[in-house]
Amino acid sequence: MPISPKRNLNALTRAELEETLSSHGQPKFRTDQVLDWLWKKRVRSIEEMTNLPAQLREVLNNEFSMTPPSPVGVLKSSDTTQKALFKLKDGRYVESVLIPASQALYGEKSDRLTLCVSSQVGCAYGCKFCASGLAGFTRNLDPDEIAGQVVEVERATGQRVNNMVFMGMGEPLANIKNLLKALELITQPWGIGIGARHLTISTSGLVPQIKTLADHPQQIRLAISLHGATDEVRSKIMPVNNKWGVDELFNALEYWNSKKKQRLTLEYILIEGVNDTESDARILAQKAKRIQAKVNLIPYNTVEGLEWARPSDEKCRRFKNTLVSAGVTATLRIEKGHDIDAACGQLRLIKEKEEGIELNL
Ligand code: SAH
Ligand code: SF4
Repeated sequence: MPISPKRNLNALTRAELEETLSSHGQPKFRTDQVLDWLWKKRVRSIEEMTNLPAQLREVLNNEFSMTPPSPVGVLKSSDTTQKALFKLKDGRYVESVLIPASQALYGEKSDRLTLCVSSQVGCAYGCKFCASGLAGFTRNLDPDEIAGQVVEVERATGQRVNNMVFMGMGEPLANIKNLLKALELITQPWGIGIGARHLTISTSGLVPQIKTLADHPQQIRLAISLHGATDEVRSKIMPVNNKWGVDELFNALEYWNSKKKQRLTLEYILIEGVNDTESDARILAQKAKRIQAKVNLIPYNTVEGLEWARPSDEKCRRFKNTLVSAGVTATLRIEKGHDIDAACGQLRLIKEKEEGIELNL
C-alpha cells in the first residue's frame, strides 16, 4: 500500500483544526461541526459531513485523508482477553489488547474495560527480555493511530473503553510529541472523552520526557518499567539505564510526585537468577518507599527466542512478602492473555501472513 502523502484529518488537535479551517476562511463554529463528525458520529469519510458546504468538503478532501487503523484480526484468549491486530495506513501492523472488566489490571472498580494500546511500530530500546524490542524500531504512531485504536475497538465491539494503559508495543515517551496530541484527542470532551485519571502511561524511564509529562496539566498516571532496583541489575537487562541511571530516574520520579496526585506504579518483572533475590526485594522496597510507589510484580512471560525464565511461584510470593513486610503496597500480577501472546512484553512485530487470523469481534 503506498504511503498517503495526506495527513489524517483526525490527527489534528482542536487548535490545529481551527487554524486549518480559518485559513480556508471558515467561521469558528465549523471546528465543532467537524469535531462532532470525527469523534462523536465517527464517520469514515469527509463526504459524510453533510452539514459542511460542498466546497469545504472538497478542500478538506484535497488536503486530508481518513484512513483509520483497520482491524484485520482478532485473537480471543480463554480468559476473555482479546488481542486486536490493526493494519495501518502504510501497511504496517500494531496490536491492542482489550482487557474486560473483571480482569482490570489497575484500579479498584470492577466496571472497567481497559484497552492496552501501542505507541510505536517496534521499539528502539532493546530491553533484553521484551518481544517488542526484538526486531528494533520501525516508526512512531501518529496521534490518530494511537487514538484510533480506541475508536476502532469501540466500533467493532459496541462497548465503551473507559480505562487505558500505554503498555503495548513501543516506548510512548520516545514518541512524546504525538503522544501529547493523542492524549488531547482521547481525553477532551469533544474527543473520545476518557478522563486523564483513567490513563496510565508506561515508560522504561526516559528522564527528560518524564519531567515534560510531569509538567503536563492533566492528572495522567505513570508506571515505570523498573525491573532492577540497582544500576548493576538494571543495566544488565535495560540498555536505557546506561543513559539515565536509577538515581537520576528516581529524582525525576520525585519531581513527578511534586506535580501529580496519583501514586506512581513500579513494574517489576521477576526473572529467575537476574533480579529475584531477597536482597533485590529489600532494595526495591527502599526505593519504592522513597517515592511512595506501589509495586506490580510480574512473573516473566516467556518470549520465543529468549532464554529467560520466571522464578517458582513460591519464590515470587516470597519476593512479594518481603515488600509487603517492609510496608510497600505490592501485587503479584496474574497475567492475562498468555495463550494468545497478549500478555506484557509479548507484543511483537507482525508479519503480513498473520493477517486475518479470525475476524470475530
Ligand atoms: N516501553 C514501555 C511500554 C511498554 S509496556 C515500557 O517498557 O514501559 C510493556 C510492559 O511489559 C513493560 O513493563 C515491560 O517491561 C513489560 N515486559 C516486557 N517483556 C516482558 C515479559 N517477557 N514478561 C513480562 N513483562 C514484560
Ligand atoms: Fe521497548 Fe518497553 Fe519492550 Fe523495553 S520493555 S523494549 S522500552 S517496549
